[in-house]
Amino acid sequence: MTGGVTQSDALRTLHRVFGYDAFRGEQEAVIDHVVAGGDAVVLMPTGGGKSLCYQIPALVRPGTGVVVSPLIALMQDQVDALRTAGVRAGFINSTQDFDERRVMEAEFLAGELDVLYLAPERLRLDATLDLLSRGKISVFAIDEAHCVAQWGHDFRPDYLALSVLGQRWPDVPRIALTATATHATHREITERLGMPDAKHFVASFDRPNIQYRIVPKAEPKKQLLSFLKEEHAGDAGIVYCLSRNSVEKTAEFLCQNGIEAVPYHAGLDGGTRARHQSRFLREEGLVVCATIAFGMGIDKPDVRFVAHLDLPKSVEGYYQETGRAGRDGLPSTAWMAYGLQDVVQQRKLIQGGEGDEAFRRRAASHLDSMLALCETARCRRAQLLTYFGQEAPEACGNCDTCLAPPETWDGTVAAQKVLSTVVRLQRERGQKFGAGQIIDILLGKKTAKVIQFDHDQLSVFGIGEELAEAEWRGVVRQLLAQGLLAVEGEYGTLVLTETSGSVLGREREVRLRKEPKRAPAARAAKGE
Ligand code: ADP
Ligand code: ZN
Repeated sequence: MTGGVTQSDALRTLHRVFGYDAFRGEQEAVIDHVVAGGDAVVLMPTGGGKSLCYQIPALVRPGTGVVVSPLIALMQDQVDALRTAGVRAGFINSTQDFDERRVMEAEFLAGELDVLYLAPERLRLDATLDLLSRGKISVFAIDEAHCVAQWGHDFRPDYLALSVLGQRWPDVPRIALTATATHATHREITERLGMPDAKHFVASFDRPNIQYRIVPKAEPKKQLLSFLKEEHAGDAGIVYCLSRNSVEKTAEFLCQNGIEAVPYHAGLDGGTRARHQSRFLREEGLVVCATIAFGMGIDKPDVRFVAHLDLPKSVEGYYQETGRAGRDGLPSTAWMAYGLQDVVQQRKLIQGGEGDEAFRRRAASHLDSMLALCETARCRRAQLLTYFGQEAPEACGNCDTCLAPPETWDGTVAAQKVLSTVVRLQRERGQKFGAGQIIDILLGKKTAKVIQFDHDQLSVFGIGEELAEAEWRGVVRQLLAQGLLAVEGEYGTLVLTETSGSVLGREREVRLRKEPKRAPAARAAKGE
């Protein structure tokens, strides 16, 4: 502690306004620096307490703290919460009518606001910049600052215009905050926001109370149900699904099975969304099934689990979504079911999706990192922390791979069998097929489709009877994840990649993760 007047002001404000005893982690250092007029870039995991890092300087320094946030839907809640604590807070965004906006503007100009929330698009308007020029500003806070990064997963063009703040108000300290930053994103934030002299505060991204688990997907809804019943009965949590349709279906399924669940996605009308969100915040033990439209900025401390029924598009996304669990520091679970179909589907989405070649390459590399996390035989937490460029333990003791270390096996021969089946079909028949048909051929199954195409005549027919179907799916999935096999076209047919040849030519060994039979925690719960 450095002591001094400003610091005790900050601490007094923490006690008096927010009712907390002490600062957490980096908060005090950040607040001291900003209160003293310095710029700061703050990387802190979700739930780390970023809000106080700008709210307290806004209260301690003279003038209004201007907070730029993309989360328009949450501004009302944030402002209400601050007002309840006696902070004079307001917002200006597109949800307001002319009169409401005028009132806010007048309060700002009269110096009657401690904190003013603004959507980034407003700062592209000269009218807004003029307004700000006519008032007194204590600090600019740029929340969700990773939105400025074009290589990130959450890019918002409006953020690019925010460098104007430093140019027009060189004497007002700026603080950029994010829960998501690899080294590259971190650098982009600093460059694009024009904050070369900012001090950087990087908190640990470890969330020790979250147990990370990724299980092989078989019957996802049923697996989810037993996970919830066995480990999280009566707990509040979020279930993420990729599509609106599966959000609806999953919520329905849970309700039919005695778990109170509501859907949340962008296709629902605003009223329903708001109702479900506020029920989630207020009630105990409600499950929200949602697309990723749900959760950004939601501050519910006792979310006990976050479940993924579909693969997130990036590790950043995964970390942010799972980070919504256990903000109160109590044990929580990040559970995901992941399977072959996820890999096929995501690869297809990238190929068939919009965007130029660079965009696709970026998306593919995000996906590769996510797949590496799913397929790793190493500690998941260590893998995550390393991804974010942070120091990592060898083993954390609180993830599935630590609790039940997966076996790996030499899958070279199995890989060769898959790849040569793909090659045979293409060379001898000029055909391409999806994983299902390839596996049926390997297993020597005379299905209607096998007969129809005479695939029982291929020399590779039945050469894979040593493995079960689920194991073959695991092999194909891991080959796709490792880039030794690729999918193509709208049917997700399998094709070779540049590196497939090295496997066929026996130049490289393929190490594969053995598919666990059951989830490790379920085993632990049964005392085995
Ligand atoms: P973030 O924006 O980093 O996700 P928040 O600012 O929403 O995190 O804070 C997460 C939770 O932690 C909130 O409920 C907040 O009130 C609480 N919190 C933050 N700082 C402290 C502190 N110093 N002492 C106690 N609780 C805190
Ligand atoms: Zn671990």
